[in-house]
Amino acid sequence: MSLEVSLERRKQSQTPVTGNGNGVVSSSAPSFSTHRLRLQPKEDHKSESYEDLQLEFSPLLFSMLERHLPPSMLNVARDLKLQYMRDILLRYAPEGERNRVQRHREYRQKIISNYQPLHRELYSLHAANFFVPSFLKAINENSEESFRRIMSEPSPGIYKFEMLQPQFCEKLLSEVESFERWVHETKFRIMRPNTMNKYGAVLDDFGLETMLDKLMDDFIRPISRVFFSEVGGGTLDSHHGFVVEYGIDRDVELGFHVDDSEVTLNVCLGKQFSGGELFFRGIRCDKHVNTETQSEEIFDYFHVPGHAVLHCGRHRHGARATTSGRRVNLLLWCRSSVFRELKKYQKDFSSWCGECQREKRERQLISIDATKQELLKREVKSPP
Ligand SMILES: [Zn+2]
Repeated sequence: MSLEVSLERRKQSQTPVTGNGNGVVSSSAPSFSTHRLRLQPKEDHKSESYEDLQLEFSPLLFSMLERHLPPSMLNVARDLKLQYMRDILLRYAPEGERNRVQRHREYRQKIISNYQPLHRELYSLHAANFFVPSFLKAINENSEESFRRIMSEPSPGIYKFEMLQPQFCEKLLSEVESFERWVHETKFRIMRPNTMNKYGAVLDDFGLETMLDKLMDDFIRPISRVFFSEVGGGTLDSHHGFVVEYGIDRDVELGFHVDDSEVTLNVCLGKQFSGGELFFRGIRCDKHVNTETQSEEIFDYFHVPGHAVLHCGRHRHGARATTSGRRVNLLLWCRSSVFRELKKYQKDFSSWCGECQREKRERQLISIDATKQELLKREVKSPP
């Protein structure tokens, strides 16, 4: 079930890799064990409309769920059905989270109804105006071969390629500047993109959500399906889109961390700058996030305006100081609710974690060695 609540409830956190930011928060939700839905919907059931009600979940969700009610519940009064389904949904979203989601929805609405976009053409995706032809061609062909043609993989799991047209970068930069001006003039208190950046803006909050959704669905997911299938790349279904701004009078650098994403797209929009390179240090699961880096995992990436780098969110990284000028990057954290749900049931080994793989190899070597010793012993003992 992909509820809006469950998608939005994640804090936009970049988890610092060193330090103590890895606490696990557990919540105890009320349990209505007697309330069950049926797996198979009653297809010919005509659901009620819930559009006239002020609810914490989408009215459409209730209409959709209604067909999954047990037979005895299908024809009872609407408010009884509503209560039954609500009880079930509440198991998935604690009250504090629902309030937060509601407040955020109002916050976004307030911005969107007051801020006047500078370049309206940015708010819906026009592929030919946004992307360079080589990128478009590769996406249209939609094969590993076509992607490899425009990309290089300078270090395992890190893909770089030319993506955005210079004019698009300029327009997006000026749109962000226009938004920042509006924020400054109106004294509107905005939320910054995440826990580690003091500057920058959440693009989703001022109207670019639909455009970025399409960017993820039609452009990033096809690539991720091929290169990041192990971390849910083929089932990306929500995103957090923002820009970060670096410079002497902005954020200067970014500490070592992992992203709250399955796949991260990072595109440099400009402008003139020096420094600011990304340093990567291997992919790690939660358990191994602070383990040592192997020499083959060390990789530094230098930003080029219009060029993108695509990596798994669990690929540990940071940004070195931008020593002069100003650098603005577009970030799209792509998430998969399916992958996150499945991850809960996975106990000890992550196929995508560098350290898990290393431990596995080590265990195999030990077991091979033990077998060898055992065989040798038998040889010695066996009679001549
Ligand atoms: Zn691991």
